[in-house]
Amino acid sequence: MPTPTFSTRCTGHRKIAHDVYEFTLAKPEGFSFQAGQFVMFQVPLVDKVSDVQGRAFSIASAPSEPELLFVAKIKQGGRAGRWISEMLKEGDEVKLQGPLGKFTLAPYPNAVSGAGFEPAGEQKLLFLATCSGIAPLRSQLVEALYQGDTRAMDLLFCVRSEENLFWAKELSEIAKGHANVHVHISLSRPSAGWKGLTGHLQDVASQVIPDLPERSIYVCGGPEMVKAVRIKAEQEWKIPKERIHSEDYV
Ligand SMILES: Cc1cc2nc3c(=O)[nH]c(=O)nc-3n(C[C@H](O)[C@H](O)[C@H](O)COP(=O)(O)OP(=O)(O)OC[C@H]3O[C@@H](n4cnc5c(N)ncnc54)[C@H](O)[C@@H]3O)c2cc1C
Repeated sequence: MPTPTFSTRCTGHRKIAHDVYEFTLAKPEGFSFQAGQFVMFQVPLVDKVSDVQGRAFSIASAPSEPELLFVAKIKQGGRAGRWISEMLKEGDEVKLQGPLGKFTLAPYPNAVSGAGFEPAGEQKLLFLATCSGIAPLRSQLVEALYQGDTRAMDLLFCVRSEENLFWAKELSEIAKGHANVHVHISLSRPSAGWKGLTGHLQDVASQVIPDLPERSIYVCGGPEMVKAVRIKAEQEWKIPKERIHSEDYV
């Protein structure tokens, strides 16, 4: 069966960091998805709106949340980059196809409506993201907590510098009140005044997660980072391939 297409409205749009925007859409009637999936937006060319092409964007909100949330890292001159930074505004009609993708958490056999959470094999989770790669991981984390997941879950979020940082407070809020969840923020090229973690994702993970071999990994971001993490996870952290899940933003 072909993936359905939906028409909806933009309900919010704002710049949240250097070259980073977040926007929300009303959840279209009949649209359901699993945490970690993405949609294909039908993206018009700013200079010729009848010229439309698909672009993939991960859903950053969880299925249990009322709206669809997205975060976009703008690539200068790119079709989606120009649409989001120059054209899209609250109230606009947006067409999307989805949901798509298999970057999802193991199913919850006894979900919120059932008898409580039973982990399906994966005992401890580690979410690793650079920049807008945070989107599907935010969705997965929020959904896991909604489902009553009590496994150890660490989220390590890395961006280049302070001007590229977003959602630091929001991610900490999600973790609040959940002793099993920890959020770590790292900058790869911070200013001299930065007091937090410094370094690339895979190096910082080795510093802050003492039980790496016990983790199941969910990693999302640019293809080079994802490849580097996969190699490190298999070779150094000794995590079996079947517990390493990834999504590349190609
Ligand atoms: C499964 C999946 C999920 C994704 N989820 C997200 C997400 O949640 N958030 C996110 O930010 N991204 C996400 N991406 C990446 C996203 O789909 C796009 O690839 C990205 O936004 C760039 O698209 P674009 O149309 O802006 O660039 P394109 O038009 O495709 O251009 C590609 C490159 O060429 C350059 N370029 C194009 N035209 C010009 C020009 N005229 N002048 C100079 N340079 C030019 C652009 O800078 C860009 O680097 C995802 C990708 C996949 C595969």
